[in-house]
Amino acid sequence: MSDVLERFLRYVRIDTQAQEGTGLVPSTLKQLDLCRLLADECRALGLRDVVMSPQGTVLATVPATVPHRAPAFALVAHVDTEPGTSGKDVQPQVHRNYLGGDLPLPKGGLVLKVEDNPELLGLVGGTIITTDGTTLLGADDKAGVAAIMAMAAHLMQHPEIPHGPVKLCFTCDEEIGHGVDHLDIPALGVVCAYTLDGDGRGKIDCETFSADQAIITVTGVGIHPSIGKGKLVNAIRILSRIIAGLPQDRLSPETTDGRDGFVHPYMIEGGTASATARFILRDFETARLAEYAALLESLAEPLRSEYPTCQIEIQIVKQYRNMRDGLPQEPRALKKAVDAFRAIGIEPEQTIIRGGTDGSRLTEMGLPTPNLSTGEHNPHSPLEWTSEEELETAVAMLVELARAWGREVISG
Ligand SMILES: [Zn+2]
Repeated sequence: MSDVLERFLRYVRIDTQAQEGTGLVPSTLKQLDLCRLLADECRALGLRDVVMSPQGTVLATVPATVPHRAPAFALVAHVDTEPGTSGKDVQPQVHRNYLGGDLPLPKGGLVLKVEDNPELLGLVGGTIITTDGTTLLGADDKAGVAAIMAMAAHLMQHPEIPHGPVKLCFTCDEEIGHGVDHLDIPALGVVCAYTLDGDGRGKIDCETFSADQAIITVTGVGIHPSIGKGKLVNAIRILSRIIAGLPQDRLSPETTDGRDGFVHPYMIEGGTASATARFILRDFETARLAEYAALLESLAEPLRSEYPTCQIEIQIVKQYRNMRDGLPQEPRALKKAVDAFRAIGIEPEQTIIRGGTDGSRLTEMGLPTPNLSTGEHNPHSPLEWTSEEELETAVAMLVELARAWGREVISG
């Protein structure tokens, strides 16, 4: 067994919640608390070239043990947690010798149900980690951070394991789409990378959503309600009508799964004079994102005619693209991951992910980066959980991945 659980429990207690719109890099300075700790721990392990950038990215290298030149690959995880659920004072609950059955959380009346989490059935006798019901757990993505660190610790303690150079990379602000903004890919000097940010175990995500953000800003005419007749143009009402105009029975996360995309309003703020809503547009087919943007335009257009003194602005911000298109650039990326799972007796499942990862953007930027399972469940929720067994599986798989890449020889 590795020290992955101990690491995980240490990392989740550090509040690293990201926040949109702060204008800071990283978006919240508290993320740097974990970055600093990771850099210190990397140095203590004896890793090489440990650096933390001003933006918080931590890089480190597990030096090669093979005598030949083997290609380097990178392991990537993000330290931040998502903005919507509190990540402050996380009190992880460790349920050892899990007997099966539902797990009531100590606060707030929430119950982790087997019915909704059938993976629990495969973990009877194991160790389940949940929240206390008041925060998220942060397994997304501290499970990945812990797995990578535990793997590095294991390789440093076992120099007899043959492997090439393994680069560690911890990023900030993945949850708000800025995880790899400050990564110098050529300087990394790797043939491919893997994000450790996937659910369950035995899975390799090789497709992600393509993603854009839409920001709708309605500027109305504010005036005291007492003299508002014929003059007041209420931005709240106009924006609400755009949102209410979206389909009710499709194109939402609530009504779709599998390969179906959506238009999802996730944040709204403002007042009478000006109101803003943020949406995410998601689909596995990149071309559909333009259709979703056109749908928002089609809802805004009649309101522009109806309220000539108001302004409705729709801004589309590109986020990331389906990694499917870029992975074949380095066919060994996927193959080595499959080999590594097989080496620990697991036939991996190749899956699609209804979301994005740092890997979606890295792949688009020319660095093929599939996503590996690392024991996450119910991310972005107080019902988030993980298990020691899945964390250990991720560590064992990474050790085999290092071995698999260590067998490659750079020619010339
Ligand atoms: Zn994540």
